[in-house]
This record gives sequence, structure tokens and C-alpha cells, in this order.
Amino acid sequence: MVLNKPLQHGWRAQTLAVRGGTRRSEFGETGEAIFATSGYVYEDAEQAEAAFQDRVDKFIYSRFSNPTVNMFEDRMALIEGAEMGKATATGMSAVFASMACLVEAGDHVVASQALFGSCQYILTEILTKYGVRTTFVDGTDLNQWEEALKRPTKCVFLETPANPGLDIIDIEAVSHLAHDVGATVIVDNVFATPLLQKPLQLGADIVVYSATKHIDGQGRCLGGIVLGDKSYCENTLKPFLRHTGPSLSPFNAWVMLKGLETLDLRIRRHCENTRAIAKYLEGCTQLAKVLYPGLNSHPQHSLAKKQMSDFGNVITFSHEGGKEAVFKFMNTMKLIDISNNLGDSKSLLTHPATTTHQRLSSKDRARIGIDDGMVRLSVGLEDPLDVRDDLEQAFAAV
Ligand SMILES: *Cc1c(COP(=O)(O)O)cnc(C)c1O
Repeated sequence: MVLNKPLQHGWRAQTLAVRGGTRRSEFGETGEAIFATSGYVYEDAEQAEAAFQDRVDKFIYSRFSNPTVNMFEDRMALIEGAEMGKATATGMSAVFASMACLVEAGDHVVASQALFGSCQYILTEILTKYGVRTTFVDGTDLNQWEEALKRPTKCVFLETPANPGLDIIDIEAVSHLAHDVGATVIVDNVFATPLLQKPLQLGADIVVYSATKHIDGQGRCLGGIVLGDKSYCENTLKPFLRHTGPSLSPFNAWVMLKGLETLDLRIRRHCENTRAIAKYLEGCTQLAKVLYPGLNSHPQHSLAKKQMSDFGNVITFSHEGGKEAVFKFMNTMKLIDISNNLGDSKSLLTHPATTTHQRLSSKDRARIGIDDGMVRLSVGLEDPLDVRDDLEQAFAAV
């Protein structure tokens, strides 16, 4: 009997999300096993020598690789259409490793200015200490990319849809501009998930995820992954990870594997619920603006339609009454929680100006479109009518 049936060519994403990467042990378990082990034994000293010389393919130590973690990496690579993936302990270790393994002192990076707070910190505060300089551009303006890329550039880093204003960046156009000057394009694809946007097909070289968000999607574990071609993953990224050690734990990899099996179901429902809530918010007169890439009113709606198959579960909106009104609004919620996380089955509300983006000056916040009345809503999997009712009673209270 064959315990590990080979994957068939042409299997679709949802089949791969359930089946991809599975490696059954001799016990024929249906559910993927958690290999909770730090090390591995050798049959003899000769085998240990051969393993360290890379002459045999064998697990050596779980900082380098682990069967449960490998299953997650292989399943993600299949869904993403990447040659290979390497998992990390968090999304931030994925973002950091994806660039740190590539750059050296004197190198130049070009990045979109609207980024997850810690990604921006890595570029402005950490890589600068090692002599790597970043030029930030308005990611929606191709002229700014072109101008910044006139200087020799090692890599381009961008996030789309971006945090928290949901700017949409043209991955295909930026990849062309970057490749013309030999730069490597890294896309933080968290908001879109592996299902709604395919950066590699659009021309990017590397994709990074915080698996903490939709891939787990149920608020349990931290995790991350970097996906790309075999030469980058094997020769550049893997040695960096192996020796610096931000390894994903086997248990967390197992949670992520299980998360992937229901990702398609959850994302469909997230998008459906979010569409309904966005429509409702668009009709609220108290709001100065409502940003959701799926709304016709979104400034890059047509680009979003071109490069995404659906628009995700995050909506950002601004209350006319500023911080005071919006704090009251948040404090009145009966269902929706205040939390800086996103992509969870629970609906979560964040005030970026005082939390995720509080480190920026108010001028820098204004530059990326964050005002004091702005909140970011990650729409969960509750009944959208209950989410709407909660928003409605909170608006009434303000
Ligand atoms: C959450 C997030 C990260 C960081 O991921 P962690 O798992 O929290 O380390 C990076 N980029 C984006 C866009 C995120 O939303």
C-alpha cells in the first residue's frame, strides 16, 4: 500500500491546501504528525558525516529543518506556485530574513512608504545600522518608483494592499521597473493572502507572509514564511536562517497546516462579510471616508480588480469627530474587540494613530494617510448582520 500518494499534476489550490506537502509516517496517520523533536539520530558515524557534508538528504537539527515544518513549507509553496518556501517563527522574522540575507553594506533598497509598522522600523532603524539605505516612495505613484530606481538598487520591498490605508500598488509595473535595474522584488502579501493575489505570477521574485494572520486565522500562533525560487531559498535564505535561527516550532507549523486546509472557506466568507460591511459603512454619514479596495470609490479600485481575485477582510474608515469620537466609538463595541491583530475569525478594531503607527510623527502619519479619526476594521467570521448592528449601535452612541 502506498501511504504517500503522489500529487497529481494540475491539482487546484484548494486540493493542494488540504493535501499538499503531507508526509505520512509508517503509521499511516490521516492528520499530519507533529514531530516534536529538536534533533535526529544517525545510524552510524559515517551517516552523520555524510549528512553534514550534504551528501545524504537527512534531518540534522530542527533549527535547520523539521518534518512538520517541511510539510507546511511544501504546502505553502504549492499554493503560492513558488519553487520553495522557508518558514520562520513570525512574520517579522520572515520580512527581516528575506532582506537581510540579500543586502550588504552600501546597498540601496526602495520601499513603499505605507508599511506595517515593524517593516518600516527594520528599514529605517535596523538595516541602516548595517549601512543599508532605503528610499521610501508613494507606492501608488510609478513615477516615484522610477525616479528612486535610478540609483543602483539591490531590492524593492512593498506591501499591497498596504497597512492601514489599503493603498494598492501595481505589482507588475513595479516589478518591470525593478527588474530593468536588476533589483529583487519582495512583496508582503499578508492582506491579500495566498489565495487572492499571486505576486510571483505578476512578476515579483519573493513573497513573504505573516502566517499569524489569515493562515492561522484563529488567533492561536505566530508564524511566517518566505517563498521564492530555489536558488534564492537554498543558497541565500537557508544559510541565513540556519545560522541565525528564527525557526518555526513544529507545533505552530502543524496549526498553520490545519489553518491552510480551511483557508479557502474562511477567506471566501471573510470577503463576503467584508463586502456587506463596507457597503453599510459607505452609507454612514458620520464617516469622512471609507477605504476598501472592493468599493468603486477606492482610488485604485480598477487596479485592485486587475491584480486581486477578491479584496480581503480589512476596511479602514475615518470618523469626522477625530480621536475623541473614535475612542468613544471603540469603547462602546459590544461584539467587536479592540486589538491590533487582523485576519482573525473574530472582528477586530484598531486605532492606527495611537497603536501600530504611534511611533511615526504626525507629519509622517499624515503623509501615508493616517488621521486621528481613522480606524482599521478586520472583519471576522461572525454573522455580518451582528457586526453591522454593533457598528450601528456604536455610531449612535457617539
Ligand atoms: C502582522 C504583519 C506582519 C508581521 O507579522 P508577525 O507575525 O506579527 O511578526 C508583517 N506584515 C504585515 C502586513 C502584517 O500584517
